Amino acid sequence: MLFKPEKLKIKDQRMKPFMDSEEIWSFIHNARPTKERVREIIAKSLDKQRLKLEETAILVQADDPELVEEIKQGAKILKEKVYGQRIVLFAPLYIGNMCINTCAYCGFKSTNKAISRITLSKEELVAQVKALEDAGQKRLILVYGEHPKYNAEFIAETVGIVYSVRSGPGEIRRVNINAAPMDIDGFRIIKDSKIGTYQIFQETYHEETYAKVHLGGIKRNFEWRLTSLDRAQEAGIDDVGIGALFGLYDWRFEVLGLVRHTNHFEAVYNVGPHTISFPRIQYASQLNIDKSHIVSDAEFTRLVAILRLAVPYTGLILTAREPSAVRDEILQFGVSQIDGGTNIEMGGYAKKENAEAQNIDLEQFQINDNRSLNQIMEELIQHEYIPSFCTSCYRRGRTGEHFMEFSVPGFIKRFCQPNALLTLAEYLEDYAPEGTREMGYRLIEKKLGEMDQDDFKQNLVEKLEQVKEGKRDLYF
Ligand code: SAM
Ligand code: SF4
Repeated sequence: MLFKPEKLKIKDQRMKPFMDSEEIWSFIHNARPTKERVREIIAKSLDKQRLKLEETAILVQADDPELVEEIKQGAKILKEKVYGQRIVLFAPLYIGNMCINTCAYCGFKSTNKAISRITLSKEELVAQVKALEDAGQKRLILVYGEHPKYNAEFIAETVGIVYSVRSGPGEIRRVNINAAPMDIDGFRIIKDSKIGTYQIFQETYHEETYAKVHLGGIKRNFEWRLTSLDRAQEAGIDDVGIGALFGLYDWRFEVLGLVRHTNHFEAVYNVGPHTISFPRIQYASQLNIDKSHIVSDAEFTRLVAILRLAVPYTGLILTAREPSAVRDEILQFGVSQIDGGTNIEMGGYAKKENAEAQNIDLEQFQINDNRSLNQIMEELIQHEYIPSFCTSCYRRGRTGEHFMEFSVPGFIKRFCQPNALLTLAEYLEDYAPEGTREMGYRLIEKKLGEMDQDDFKQNLVEKLEQVKEGKRDLYF
């Protein structure tokens, strides 16, 4: 199913290329970021309207420190007012690092002979999932290199194994995928295995740069990758994640590329991508890239805030590639999901010894936030974020949940926040040490205290009691 780009049928408008570098650069070059215009644009976003490309271009061109601060504050207000304080937690699980591509930035590139090539056996996969469940994880993203071995059937089989594993009260309730592009038949097979989101990052939306960093293998085909999530839609996967690898090309261009890609989905499928990821290049075994576009921490913060304002109802994912201090800082500007307790060493979760040390020859790139899931839970709770393992929308068939959170009055109050509190209570009962448990229940009480006294609150209080009595997987 995998390596047949020649089979890509450009059947209709849907498959037409939609990315035009010149158009994106012309938006950037023509942008005039006056104070009045930047403030108007921030106000538009706070009024729950998504931004046009030309408006996003004005924000990326606004370099005046005062305006940068206003953009960040706008993103913060949007996040607090519209989404509340929930942060969804997940963990990545690497299934196999064999790869036929030669991506200059990645430790798994086919030419890297220093790396040990591993594909988890069924037993090893089960051991990994058990270790993740024992830490309290409920949502995983499975990650694969691009290799004939990792075809659609193989991916679907691994998804089935992950869903079937039980360790004590633990279970994985949502499996997302980050793997190579498929053809439509391949995506159909994967859809049937009941995945959550299928994530594919374009890496760079700039075609020339794309050609420079993808030196060999199927991934050299820019268009096959750019149209991959259209094929996923064609196969019925309407829950997709896009992303750009920041540091390959000008960050302002990539922000507009992500917004353009989002526009394309909205125009053609009437639903935007579920999530946007914005990994920054990290050290990797045999990293071989031009460093002129490396993104500073200040630029990174800006770009996250701009994305929040530009696509207010799309989930934003910030991973443990970033150090804890950067993550803590950027969280407030609109991030909705983070990974916690991350270990990307092949087979790493089930290893007891040397849990702290990273072996870069077993990994795709360097991870810079090595906190355990419980440490992250504690820190989120201390800052009054509500850690959430909620999978309710996905399991109730409420797709496009970020859009609903954003646009359906009372949706967060009736669904997201109560479900976050219920999954937090489960975690506190089953996995948290005493100190975390006390902090967590204090937060739950505080949030209950802020709710109106009505039947709905009563229902939630009863469900929380049931969790304490041992009932699991309760949600609205
Ligand atoms: N092999 C599949 C693919 O290329 O789409 C799966 C994805 S790869 C295992 C996950 C993502 O990690 C890539 O899409 C890329 O954006 C990111 N990545 C690769 N090398 C990286 C590095 N050195 N630093 C940060 N992120 C990196
Ligand atoms: Fe392979 Fe993906 Fe790494 Fe490229 S980014 S070398 S395709 S694992």
